[in-house]
Amino acid sequence: MALLQISEPGMSTAPHEHRLAVGIDLGTTNSLVASVRSGIAEALVDDDGTALLPSVVYYGEGKTPEVGASALENFSKDPLNTIASIKRVLGRSAKDIQSANDYIPFQFENNSDSVPRVKTALGPRTAVEISADILLALKQRAEKTLGGELVGAVITVPAYFDDSQRQATKDAATLAGLNVYRLLNEPTAAAIAYGLDQSAEGVIAVYDLGGGTFDVSILRLRKGVFEVMATGGDSALGGDDFDHAIANWVIEKLDSSIRDDDIAMRRVLSSARQAKEQLTSEVSTVIKVANHPDLELTREQFDLLINSYVKKTVMSCRRALRDAGIEKEDVSEVVMVGGSTRVPLVRTQVEKFFAKAPHTNIDPDRVVAIGAAIQADILAGNKPGDEMLLLDVIPLSLGIETMGGLVEKIVNRNTTIPVARAQEFTTYKDGQTAMRVHVLQGERELVSDCRSLATFDLTGLPPLVAGAAKIKVTFQVDADGLLSVSAQEVNTGVSASIEVKPSYGLTDSEIEGMLKASMDNAQQDMIARSLREEQVEADRVVEALNSALAKDGKQLLEEQELEKIINQRDALIAARHNADNAELIKQAIKNVEAASEEYVARRMNNSVRSMMKGHKLEEFEK
Ligand code: ADP
Ligand code: MG
Repeated sequence: MALLQISEPGMSTAPHEHRLAVGIDLGTTNSLVASVRSGIAEALVDDDGTALLPSVVYYGEGKTPEVGASALENFSKDPLNTIASIKRVLGRSAKDIQSANDYIPFQFENNSDSVPRVKTALGPRTAVEISADILLALKQRAEKTLGGELVGAVITVPAYFDDSQRQATKDAATLAGLNVYRLLNEPTAAAIAYGLDQSAEGVIAVYDLGGGTFDVSILRLRKGVFEVMATGGDSALGGDDFDHAIANWVIEKLDSSIRDDDIAMRRVLSSARQAKEQLTSEVSTVIKVANHPDLELTREQFDLLINSYVKKTVMSCRRALRDAGIEKEDVSEVVMVGGSTRVPLVRTQVEKFFAKAPHTNIDPDRVVAIGAAIQADILAGNKPGDEMLLLDVIPLSLGIETMGGLVEKIVNRNTTIPVARAQEFTTYKDGQTAMRVHVLQGERELVSDCRSLATFDLTGLPPLVAGAAKIKVTFQVDADGLLSVSAQEVNTGVSASIEVKPSYGLTDSEIEGMLKASMDNAQQDMIARSLREEQVEADRVVEALNSALAKDGKQLLEEQELEKIINQRDALIAARHNADNAELIKQAIKNVEAASEEYVARRMNNSVRSMMKGHKLEEFEK
């Protein structure tokens, strides 16, 4: 029998002490926690032996919040206090939620602040708080099973999650008392679970069909480094749609008035779900609805009911490949994630599309949590020497506003993160001492067509002539996908910065919409951009001319000469405001330049003369 070692509290027992770290898959429908024990990553189960924790919290009157299966039981009798699918609104503003077309099965407080709060019998709750309750339940399960306090956790998020959704996930974890090592993209976690990071090189497609969402990600593995090449999917497509398809079929066959009865409808939906799950292993099943004859549903019929949904997911795969700039044949591995990938039609269609058998050995519900646990184990320092650098990708380009309402992209979309990119800008006006930095996200050329993330001011610039100040704007996106932007005047070192935590996020269908709009409008955007550019140039020329004329126009120019220049200047101002064509403005600028050629020459001579005052000519000839 082995002796038990007893150590003093807080003292390390050995140099190779195993630190308790977990991976958590915080899902829309179900969540899980996993950990590496004795070298093997496994999902941790609750007292009943179940690993899946329904992502549902019940806030019933006079009770402490319940999480998971016991919360789910309240769905039919107290639906409004039973909060499910909170992930859909995590990190999103009231405005986002209103405009979202996905169905959100609970009610929000009517309040003016930007953080939406769900109404419950225990008072209003934010999505961060509700998610924290789920995470806390998983943390407690882990600490009980592993027999100690956790040192850290890796939490997974969809690859398309934006800054505010990632930040909200982190906030929820912190609120639950977890130390977040890092957020990890769900598809990357799945690839790690299959050990695909151990192979040499290749392109991996991760197909994740859950309860209410579909995500596809294209990963590239190169020299032991993972990189997300592209992401796609549909935030409102999943196994729930299969349940609804069956329920609709049942209602049509039996009695369409069921639809008007909420409780009966929920019952039909839950039988539909059971039937669906049965059809994964059986070729036919029987659906029972009270007071109605039994209905037989065959897999063949079921396949017909869900065929259009499955087709849609395959189309998303095609689009993601195109986004990644690769062909189907370039994909070396396909990984299946999510409970709905158990559906036989889903498997056969995905296999057919990629012409490759997908990886399905690991339980598709657990695979993400398992990958996260492997990563957490490494980050906890339990595997010294084993390093794994994971790279993700940003879904939309990031940039800043420049004169004329144009967007200058600084980090292009699909750039792998972490990334830091800098670009130099300058002032536009003489004596300008402040500059506003407006951070934008999107593919379009005009500010008005992109999404505003943040603004901040760089003040205390030295008052120099236009174009003399050098302002370096740096964008940094960290491994968790969080953005910080800084601006620094190069000569003086004056700087300002901001961490971008936008108060609202984008769904992947919105991202898709923005991408599509940028492609559809590419030609038009180019025209609009060159027009704006000429307008900005016109303003600059007028501004410079006015400031020169104010200084020495009267001294250096005859009245007639001055009039000629002023006429051309006014023609340029008119063109700048009226012309809808960049060429016309360009021509007007040329005219101003031609008219002031002599004036410019005289000014130059003048300033050379004043510079040379007190110097010998030879000094300048060196
Ligand atoms: P999420 O990632 O959204 O939390 P999951 O990956 O846990 O979701 O998937 C949940 C979905 O998987 C549900 O729609 C559920 O009905 C479906 N599912 C689970 N088991 C099966 C099965 N045996 N056959 C078909 N669908 C299943
Ligand atoms: Mg999932």
